[in-house]
Amino acid sequence: MTVNLLDFDLDGLAVFCERLGEKRFRAVQLFRWIHQRGVNQFDDMTDLAKSLREKLRNLAFIRSMPVVSQHLSADGTIKWLFDVGDGNAVETVFIPEEDRGTLCISSQAGCAVGCRFCSTGHQGFSRNLTTGEIVAQLWFAEHFLRQHLQREERIISNVVMMGMGEPLQNYTALIPALRVMLDDHGYGLSRRRVTVSTSGIVPMMDRLSQDCPVALAVSLHAPNDALRDTLVPLNVKYPLAQLVAACHRYLAFAPRDFITFEYCMLDGVNDSEQCARQLVERVKAHPGAWCKFNLIPFNPFPASGLLCSSPDRVQSFARILNDAGITTTVRKTRGDDIDAACGQLAGDVKDRTRVADRIAKQRSIRIKLIPLPTVNVSGV
Ligand code: SAH
Ligand code: SF4
Repeated sequence: MTVNLLDFDLDGLAVFCERLGEKRFRAVQLFRWIHQRGVNQFDDMTDLAKSLREKLRNLAFIRSMPVVSQHLSADGTIKWLFDVGDGNAVETVFIPEEDRGTLCISSQAGCAVGCRFCSTGHQGFSRNLTTGEIVAQLWFAEHFLRQHLQREERIISNVVMMGMGEPLQNYTALIPALRVMLDDHGYGLSRRRVTVSTSGIVPMMDRLSQDCPVALAVSLHAPNDALRDTLVPLNVKYPLAQLVAACHRYLAFAPRDFITFEYCMLDGVNDSEQCARQLVERVKAHPGAWCKFNLIPFNPFPASGLLCSSPDRVQSFARILNDAGITTTVRKTRGDDIDAACGQLAGDVKDRTRVADRIAKQRSIRIKLIPLPTVNVSGV
């Protein structure tokens, strides 16, 4: 049996090395080769003893999933589709901005929560990703981009767990993956720059606050339980009062002093002035500037039967919240021409009848794949 070393956080790798009779500092060296240098061939790890390299060759490998496709958007966004076996694929999106590079990572193939407005939710649930499959998305993207852009320094500065799946329903795989991202010997990302987005799995939010408190985004989408029940089925189990209470508990441990609420703008469903005022009341019931809102223009797909709110509606909704002193931004849609925007990560169910999309699609460029070597060193 060989193991993929992307499956380990540093403590896990130290245990693995200990079993080989190696001290912890060897695990640190190995970890740095893998994550800081993107090296996947043990023979290239020149400061490891030959005997150790030989052992590693027989017992382990370092490999991401095969890339099925890679698309570059006109705005610089890159989307990769990874094959995770059994006909399942997950997507990872890189979003370059002037002052940061953000990677949007998937946590599951499909999703069991089944939100009405989400194409991943409409797909159903296939399986949890392993720690190695979550980490591999960052490992591949970071080192691919460095190679492609011929840069030595770090390119990905922020990670958002906002791809396919509900990260808090894959908790055991998520935690070691977050630790790899945060570890100074790994990617060294600050806790403030790693965001877990959740539809509101209350007990797991509490656990996250203890095990690995990173920035938290909560997908709210409705100001009251009656409406939220219809949009996010999980609300029946964890209604808004419980969710808001959990947000407050989380804040005591969070690296930021606010929670971000995501709110998908759905025409005639959750975008009325009354909804905005109800939201203000809910937030104002608790003192302080403890949350921010991020309004996400809905990306439509036919099976949802839903439409995006008009830009005017989105703006007036944002104004009501901002006027009440609640910081509210409207998310820029990125990578729309390559189906990489929020909730489009199951491209097969996207509405392909929209003319603007079709035109933009023709402009989208398929860039040449420059894969990192993915040699299975165990057998070669
Ligand atoms: N499962 C987690 C994280 C993945 S979804 C969660 O729900 O938070 C990431 C974000 O994309 C969520 O805020 C989700 O509500 C939003 N989203 C899903 N489908 C969308 C769509 N069709 N248009 C716009 N945003 C969408
Ligand atoms: Fe799952 Fe998030 Fe989509 Fe809801 S919005 S179905 S929780 S991925």
